[in-house]
Amino acid sequence: MNTANKPRIVVLGAGFGGLELTTLLSEAMGDSIDVTLIDKSDSFIFGFSKLDVMFGLKQPEAVRLPYASFAKPGVRMLKRTITAIDPQSRRVVTDDGVFEADHLIVALGAEYDFDATPGLSGTNEFYSVPGAERLRDVLPGFRKGRAVVGVCGAPYKCPPAPSECVLMLHDYLVRQGVREACEISLVLPLATPVPPSPDTSRALLAAFAERGIEFIPGRRVASVDNTRNVAVLDDGSEMPFELFLGVPKHQVPPVVLESGMSENGWIPVNPRTLETKHENVYAVGDGANTGTPKAGVFAEGAARAVASAIVAKLRRRGSGTLYDGFGTCYIEFGGGRIGKVEVDFFSGPSPTGNYYEPSVTLRADKEMFGASRRSRWFGL
Ligand SMILES: Cc1cc2nc3c(=O)[nH]c(=O)nc-3n(C[C@H](O)[C@H](O)[C@H](O)COP(=O)(O)OP(=O)(O)OC[C@H]3O[C@@H](n4cnc5c(N)ncnc54)[C@H](O)[C@@H]3O)c2cc1C
Repeated sequence: MNTANKPRIVVLGAGFGGLELTTLLSEAMGDSIDVTLIDKSDSFIFGFSKLDVMFGLKQPEAVRLPYASFAKPGVRMLKRTITAIDPQSRRVVTDDGVFEADHLIVALGAEYDFDATPGLSGTNEFYSVPGAERLRDVLPGFRKGRAVVGVCGAPYKCPPAPSECVLMLHDYLVRQGVREACEISLVLPLATPVPPSPDTSRALLAAFAERGIEFIPGRRVASVDNTRNVAVLDDGSEMPFELFLGVPKHQVPPVVLESGMSENGWIPVNPRTLETKHENVYAVGDGANTGTPKAGVFAEGAARAVASAIVAKLRRRGSGTLYDGFGTCYIEFGGGRIGKVEVDFFSGPSPTGNYYEPSVTLRADKEMFGASRRSRWFGL
């Protein structure tokens, strides 16, 4: 690709946000721009695939989408670890080279802050791929006693995921023939499982009740005592467990913390334009503090707004479309059925949600959601 005099756009992170953003830029501008997409990994994996791996429903190799298959006109995909970001000069240092940008987009997602919850690092978590793979081997040994699924801080990725986890755990224990000997508890720092949609929350609470799953709302796990196998909640109460499945507290990755771009763990942005306080520097996805959920569909929505703003600037035409704060999430209810919620954060004075009853048909919709991204981004 001849890059002379082309606008240089550097996108940090090839997750939901970075993949969609670079795809849109390529579709709109093709080879007339010089886009560099940087990620430290070899492959992308959908967040929901972690639950499938953990419960042994899918093999890790089957859910990895290799970046080697990501090929778009005008875009260079590079495997590098980003070690420093200077948002002022839009200069990025990696383990193999320095990159300078006319437009810089930070799409590095959220990472896990194990130090924020004493004892957590000695337990199991299911929010990373290695964590999910480890649990796949731990779960068969859990045959009696209490399993606690505990969230250690909000905001966290995909608010329905811990609820999905307990419902899938119920099914797993039934399949193993040990459900009667086990208890399942869910500790959530939210008042309800999906706050913007009371109907979805009601349906999840009914599903918990039907299956004898204990729900403890408005509490987070403050520490884990691994010598006594006890989770300590933020009100000081203690929950003994035989199996602990944790969702760690989240924050932006260390390289973003060190860049000075974040405040209280997240990058402040204009929620509708995703602009940071630095000129021509945007943040999309989980790392950006937009007030919308940390989920792939919302990262895609933010990417659409940033792509349209950059294209408008480059074409010197208009100002692009605003981020709509709208997203559709599929929810595993167990028993092979999937529910759906459409959440709208910006249209009204407060967020609203539309709930769709779980069904086998919606499973096909969820599969289509994954397959369409797989084909759009990776041509697979
Ligand atoms: C269990 C679970 C279930 C989920 N289910 C759903 C769901 O059903 N629907 C949904 O929409 N969302 C779901 N999510 C959430 C979804 O996965 C995330 O919200 C989404 O991936 C965020 O996109 P992103 O682009 O902000 O970041 P990410 O997709 O996390 O991408 C960030 C990228 O940055 C890279 N990176 C980080 N640091 C560096 C560095 N220093 N150098 C180079 N590269 C770096 C990472 O390798 C990564 O590829 C789920 C998440 C979990 C954990």
